[in-house]
Amino acid sequence: MTTSWLDEFPARIAALDDAHLRRLRRVVTPESGARLCVNGQSMLAFCSNDYLGLATHPALVQAACDAAQVYGVGSGGSPLVSGHSAANAALEQELAAFVGLARALYFYAGYATNIGIIPALVGAGDAIFSDALNHACLIDGARLSRAQIHRYPHADLAALAHGLAQSSAPRKLVISDAVFSMDGDSADIPGLLALCEQHDALLLLDDAHGFGVLGPQGRGSLAAAGLIGPNASRRVLYMATLGKAAGVAGAFVAGDDALVEWLLQKTRSYTFATAAPALLASALRVSLQVIEQDDWRRTHLQRLIARLRAGLTTGLQGSSWQLSDSQTAIQPLLIGPNDEALAAMEGLRLRGIWVPAIRPPTVPEGTARLRIALSAAHTEGDVDQLIDALTTLAKPLR
Ligand SMILES: *Cc1c(COP(=O)(O)O)cnc(C)c1O
Repeated sequence: MTTSWLDEFPARIAALDDAHLRRLRRVVTPESGARLCVNGQSMLAFCSNDYLGLATHPALVQAACDAAQVYGVGSGGSPLVSGHSAANAALEQELAAFVGLARALYFYAGYATNIGIIPALVGAGDAIFSDALNHACLIDGARLSRAQIHRYPHADLAALAHGLAQSSAPRKLVISDAVFSMDGDSADIPGLLALCEQHDALLLLDDAHGFGVLGPQGRGSLAAAGLIGPNASRRVLYMATLGKAAGVAGAFVAGDDALVEWLLQKTRSYTFATAAPALLASALRVSLQVIEQDDWRRTHLQRLIARLRAGLTTGLQGSSWQLSDSQTAIQPLLIGPNDEALAAMEGLRLRGIWVPAIRPPTVPEGTARLRIALSAAHTEGDVDQLIDALTTLAKPLR
């Protein structure tokens, strides 16, 4: 009997099980506040990137419903053919104004944005400099470009400077998360930009976790660094996603007019894909207004971050579990071994709390963690409940 490689899959899946690397999906329905109904059970959730609690905001929901009445539910085509609605066009203008840059291009997803724009910017013979902890879609975009990839140690500007100085590539692109998605720390944006200026490089920043949360009125990491409006640099291409703090879906890239026009012309994941539906763009237009106006959401979130950090610093004294050095809504608790991280997640689940365990390959080997994500939808009581549970679970380890 002939064998086929198609017969290998059951054994390959079993190997994932053995290594504690098999992922399961859960069926989730939002409840009130930060609670989710997970596989039929009500849970207090610390796993959402909905940092401002806007995903269920009534004004956003209403805007989506109203837009569906006007535009229908589908966009019907690529933005370069027939998919570019008045709502999508208006959103682009408002996004550019909101982040203080010349022009913005709205995409249906952040992953598609990064895997498309990087190959549109650089190619074979060019050089990409990439932080070791960058998000998967920056890495994949770099690979697709066929440019040479230089991976520098996380946040190591000296190593980056050395790499840039050594390179004789005609086009150099530096790519970095602005807020690192599994660690919650922020990139040194002025430091990165200074190196890019010195070496004629372009800087692509992915602010998926800073947009809406950081900077004045939530305008993002670039605004927090003061590099917008009259201080904007044409060397910075700013990218952010709209399915996290903005509460909807999609992403955008913003920057210098000619650069954005080039991306509109040459990004394959933009050209050869159906445009985001106008109902999402319409919800996002309202989301931008709420982000701008509701400063209390960010103030409340900051209070929760401080409360969690203070509580866990005390509660986990003497434990091997280590809170990362993050000031953002992403508060990872480093545990180490995969099975111990999974056991901690299970211990929380039994207490009605959902925090995801993040394991390799998403994070480096031996750094499995609980990725605690806070949101303006949480109450101080919710955070206290998490602190108590983690303190209890960490006890047997002392
Ligand atoms: C979530 C995320 C993306 C992908 O965005 P989607 O809109 O979910 O496709 C890109 N970059 C970073 C850093 C992210 O965290």
